[in-house]
Amino acid sequence: MKNVGFIGLGNMGMPMAKNMMAEGYVVTGFNRSKGKEQGFSEVGGKVGYSVAQLAETEDVICLCLPKPEDVERMVLGEDGILNHAKEGLYIVDFSTISPKLAEHLYQVCHQRNIHFVDAPVSGGTTGAEAGTLTVMVGGEKEVFSQLYSLFKSVGEQIFHTGAAGSGTKVKLLNQYMVGMHTLAVAEGVGLAEQSGVDPELVYEILSQSFAQSKLYDRHYPNFIAKDQFDGGFAIELLFKDLDLVREMAEESDTPLTIGRQVTSQFEQAAHSDLKKKDMSAMYKFINKQ
Ligand code: NAD
Repeated sequence: MKNVGFIGLGNMGMPMAKNMMAEGYVVTGFNRSKGKEQGFSEVGGKVGYSVAQLAETEDVICLCLPKPEDVERMVLGEDGILNHAKEGLYIVDFSTISPKLAEHLYQVCHQRNIHFVDAPVSGGTTGAEAGTLTVMVGGEKEVFSQLYSLFKSVGEQIFHTGAAGSGTKVKLLNQYMVGMHTLAVAEGVGLAEQSGVDPELVYEILSQSFAQSKLYDRHYPNFIAKDQFDGGFAIELLFKDLDLVREMAEESDTPLTIGRQVTSQFEQAAHSDLKKKDMSAMYKFINKQ
């Protein structure tokens, strides 16, 4: 299983595809905006093929696309993967979609003798570049084992979470807490400033206290302290995830009292001019608007 098609060469997909190549996979990249394909070819990737051609020839097709509807169209659309897939093809979806869609794609693929796993990732662009992502894989155990080396080429912690859709459920729980911690950092730093305490000092102390979190360690030194919010993980994508969490909670009759407020803040920010900025820019949204 050495020939891999990689669809979606964005902030995450590009470094992941590069790491696969570094581990000996022959990777053909496909992206909607062709500048990204050009960039991928400059680092040794193959480009210039259609989705249909990839589905006919590759052993594995990986997806890392922004939204559930992008993944659905890419797999089930008229010119999508399934209509052209050779029997036994493996489809690995690294995007964050809904558990329902992941289950549906698994079912449809299964009927066609195509293997599908949902394999959302955590660790951000720095984890994608370093090849240290956490990968949460929902789908058949045997398929998970067959793809293990591929997952290892992009990540360090690789988990089989159970049936199709379960990787996505775990990922959405992660996103729920990411949203909360992000707002905790945004409000906390704002409160420090308003109260006349030096946010640098606060970070130095709290990063060694119980308020320490991976997101405080990410957001404060890398973005907020530098007043730089480009790259990373877009606010509009985290809102997409929080909306998927809302759906997941409704389906299991779980009231998310605090979550509703968190989601509402992200929804407003996702419709502001900060929508493409890294999620740490919620600090600006909360404190500076
Ligand atoms: P991105 O917007 O940077 O990249 C998506 C890429 O897909 C872009 O290059 C875009 O041109 C391309 N694309 C979009 N629609 C396409 C289509 N129909 N056909 C071909 N290419 C298409 O997004 P990202 O930050 O890389 O995130 C991708 C997925 O990974 C999302 O589901 C996101 O939630 C998830 N994710 C992101 C991060 C992060 O830190 N950025 C972390 C974990 C998971």
